[in-house]
This record gives sequence, C-alpha cells and structure tokens, in this order.
Amino acid sequence: MALALISAILLILLVLIAVRFGLNRGQLTNDGEPARQPTMHASGIYSIIRSSPRENIMTAKPDEDEIGKYISTLNEDMRGQTLTDEDKHALLNQWNSSINTSITTVEEGDQCDVEFYYFDFIPTECPVCKQYFTKGKFVTREEIFLNPCILPPFHPGCTCKIQPHHGKENLRETTELGMLPLFKNQELPALPDWKTVIKLSNE
Ligand SMILES: [Zn+2]
Repeated sequence: MALALISAILLILLVLIAVRFGLNRGQLTNDGEPARQPTMHASGIYSIIRSSPRENIMTAKPDEDEIGKYISTLNEDMRGQTLTDEDKHALLNQWNSSINTSITTVEEGDQCDVEFYYFDFIPTECPVCKQYFTKGKFVTREEIFLNPCILPPFHPGCTCKIQPHHGKENLRETTELGMLPLFKNQELPALPDWKTVIKLSNE
C-alpha cells in the first residue's frame, strides 16, 4: 500500500516537472523567435527594408567630426602624397557628398523597387577598394538594409559608388562587368579601413 502511494506521488511529481519544463520551453521559443525570424519573410517587411538608409548609414560610418579630426592629423596620404589644408578640406567635402550620393541612389531606387545595386568606381578606380571588390559586384536591397556599412564611401578619397540595377535593360552591360554577389553565405565581407586616406586627383 505504502509503495503504491509513494509511486503515485512520484508519478504526480514527474508529471508536474514535465509540464513545467514544457511551459518553460514554450516561453523560450516565444521570446527567442522574433529576433531570429528571417527579415525577408515577415509580412510587410518590404516597407521597413525600403525605409531611407540615411540614419543607418550615419551610425554605421564615422561621423564628419571624427573624419575631419583624423584627416587634420595627417601630412600625407597612404601613397605618400602631401596633403595641404585645401586637400583635407576637399577630402571632407567629398566624403559628405559621397555619403549623400549613396543615400539618394538608394532612396531613388526604392521609388522604383530596385532590388540590386552594383559597385562602380567613378571617375577613377579606387586603389584601396579594388583590393576588396571589383566593379560589378552586387548587393541586394535587403543586404543594404541589414548592413548599411556596405554603402560607399569606405574611406576619405574613396571613388566607389553604387549603381541601381534595373533589370533586363542593363543585363548585357552588367554581364560584361562580371556581376557577382558581394556576400557569400550572407556573411559581411571584409571592408577597407576608413582610416586609409587617398588624396583626391585633380582631374
Ligand atoms: Zn575606396
């Protein structure tokens, strides 16, 4: 009799533990899941992805003050070319206008649902960035949303730009560019150090 009673109590305890454990697991799943949901599959996410990258790029890149202070400490660029005050001023202006170009390109692309952007060098090839990617490497709009740091410029004096890929009409041209994805397995590729400064050419 006593044995049966003990067995019954043990059984009830086991059931209680199992129920409790099950509840905890349920809570963990509920807490953990929203953060892990793939961005692209959640409904209505396109409107979030297509919000202006302005704020995100500003937090992803060093700000104007930081860039200006750093440039002011340099006497020459990474190739040993002398930097005058005028050069430094031009570099800072170019940095700001280049960020704005990236933002505007994406904002305009969002107006016509551009999904892909490819990298280009304008007006000349960037000697720093060419070691990291070639002209024609492309990123998706979602990758830009998730990693705003992949928008150019990557350093003062950077001539890298992104161009919208509208689809069929540019296919031939982009095939010639050797369009390949910049991301492999959704991993953020290595990007140039923003402290690599290249004097602007006067051409
Ligand atoms: Zn560059």
